Amino acid sequence: MKPTIALVGRPNVGKSTLFNRLTKSRDALVADMPGLTRDRHYGHGKIGNKPYLCVDTGGFEPVADDGIMHEMARQTLQAIDEADAVIFLVDARVGMTPQDKLIANRLRQLDRPVRLAVNKAEGMAPNVVTAEFYELALGEPWPISSAHGEGVRGLIDSILAGF
Ligand code: GDP
Ligand code: MG
Repeated sequence: MKPTIALVGRPNVGKSTLFNRLTKSRDALVADMPGLTRDRHYGHGKIGNKPYLCVDTGGFEPVADDGIMHEMARQTLQAIDEADAVIFLVDARVGMTPQDKLIANRLRQLDRPVRLAVNKAEGMAPNVVTAEFYELALGEPWPISSAHGEGVRGLIDSILAGF
């Protein structure tokens, strides 16, 4: 069985950019399932000889007041529930935000392997980029650039090695 990898994070961190990169291989076949999954996008991908299914939890915007946790509960938590592993994206350029901390708190309570990916890290020193994100207590942060592809292969390899 192919592992399913869910991409989560606040808006604008680069989830869809990573999704496109992970699902644009020659073998990729975008597999949207309208109706069932109005707010999530599914795509097949393959690295080396290892196939996976990728879920972009796109389209969630924080709602007023109860903010991001409302949407986390409604969509992202469901995607996580269906997934075998989670990539939690944060933004190297913006740095840590309160929303990141809320999402991290939630992810730590769930029983899914999580990789913390610090996106938009191209041209930045890896140890500088990752330093502040150790505080999220989700293990070693992985510097990546979804737009340029840097670090993405290693990140996915490390996830697929567990399956
Ligand atoms: P999403 O809301 O999390 O799905 O984020 P998007 O994939 O739509 O990306 C949000 C913005 O960040 C877009 O303008 C992307 O071009 C930009 N972006 C995504 N990945 C990278 C990256 O690796 N480096 C840089 N510099 N920008 C990126
Ligand atoms: Mg998106």
